[in-house]
Amino acid sequence: MSRFLSGKFAAIEPYTPGEQPQDRSYIKLNTNENPYPPSPKVFEAIFGGNGGGEKRLAEPGAEIDKLRLYSDPEVRELSEAIAGFYHISPEQVLVGNGSDEILAFAFLAFGDDTKPVRFPAVSYGFYPVFARLFGISAEPAALREDFTIDPADYIGCGRNVVIANPNAPTGIALEPAQIEAIVKSNPDHLVIIDEAYVDFGGESVIPLIDRYDNLMVVQTFSKSRSLAGARLGFAAACREIISDMNKMKFSFNPYNVNRLSILAGTAAMKDRPYFERCTAAIRETREETAAELRRMGFTVLPSKANFLFAKSDRIGGGEYFRQLKERGILVRHWDKPEIRDYVRITVGTPQDMKTLCRVTEELLAERI
Ligand code: PMP
Repeated sequence: MSRFLSGKFAAIEPYTPGEQPQDRSYIKLNTNENPYPPSPKVFEAIFGGNGGGEKRLAEPGAEIDKLRLYSDPEVRELSEAIAGFYHISPEQVLVGNGSDEILAFAFLAFGDDTKPVRFPAVSYGFYPVFARLFGISAEPAALREDFTIDPADYIGCGRNVVIANPNAPTGIALEPAQIEAIVKSNPDHLVIIDEAYVDFGGESVIPLIDRYDNLMVVQTFSKSRSLAGARLGFAAACREIISDMNKMKFSFNPYNVNRLSILAGTAAMKDRPYFERCTAAIRETREETAAELRRMGFTVLPSKANFLFAKSDRIGGGEYFRQLKERGILVRHWDKPEIRDYVRITVGTPQDMKTLCRVTEELLAERI
C-alpha cells in the first residue's frame, strides 16, 4: 500500500477472480466460461462477412479502422438487439462493461449507509466487496442447511435486495413466483436479480420489469454467449431506473463498451439458434457429469447453471482442488466454513468432463 491511498479504502479486501493461468494449459473448469466458441456470426461481424478474413479488418471503413473513433456512448445497436430478444424497449436496457460494471453502477446509485443491502451469505463474492467500496451496510442472510435461499428472509424485508438466480456457487434457483413475491412485498426498495446463469435452466424474470418499477434484472454475455473476454453485461429495468443507472455511467465512463464488443454482442444476441444449441449441450453435459459424480459417491447440488457444486466424503474440497490442479484440471474452491468441503466445477465439453471423471475416479481409488 502506498502512503497516498485514501484511508476509507485501506481495509478493503478486493474480489479475488478465479485463476487465468498462463504457465501451462489446463482443462479450465474454474471460472464458468463457455467451452464453445462465440457464434460464427460474431466472427463474421468482426472479420467481415464473405471470407474476407483478417485482410478486411484493416480496410478503410472496417471496424478496426474505426477504433480511432469513440464507441457509441448509448450502445444503441446492442441495446436494440437485447430489447428485441426480450420483447422490451431499448430504453429499458443499459449495457455495461461486464455485468460486474452494471452491479457496480447499481450499488453506487441505490445504496448508502442509510440504505442497506441484503443478499445471501453464500453467493457471488463481489456483492460484499461493492457494498464495502461504496460504504453500504451489508446484511448477508444465511442459506438454509440444504443451500437453498429462504424467500422469507427477503419478503417484506424493507431493504434493497440482491439475489443471484440461479445462485452461485450453488447453482440452485428460485422459481419466478418466489422472486415475484420478494419484489411485490418490497415496493419501496430495489430488488436486483442477477441472472448471470439463467440461460442454463432457470427462468428469467425480465418480463416482470413492465409490472414492477422496483425490479432490476442483470445478465451477462460471459457465460451463455461465450463472450467473457468481450466484457459485456446489461441491466433491464423500468425507464426511471435505467435513467438513474445512466447517471452513474455518464458520471464515470461514458464510453464504457468498446466498438468490437458492441459488434460481437449484437451478433451473438441475434444468433438465437446457436445460443440455444450451446446452452442445451451444456445442460446435457451437466446432467451426465452430475450422474457420474453421484455414482462415485459425491453429493452434487441440483444445478440450473453451467457449473456443479459437489463434495465427496472421501476427499476434502481443498485436497480435491489441489490434486486436480496437479493433474492439469482447474476447478474452484473457497476456504469458507460453510462451503469448504465443496468444489465448484464449470461444465466444459463432454471430453473435458470425461477427463475430470476419469481423474476423479483414479484419485478416489488411490485413497482406498
Ligand atoms: N454475477 C455472477 C453471479 C457471476 O458469477 C459473475 C461472474 N463472475 C458475474 C455476475 C460477472 O460476470 P461478468 O462481469 O463477466 O459479466
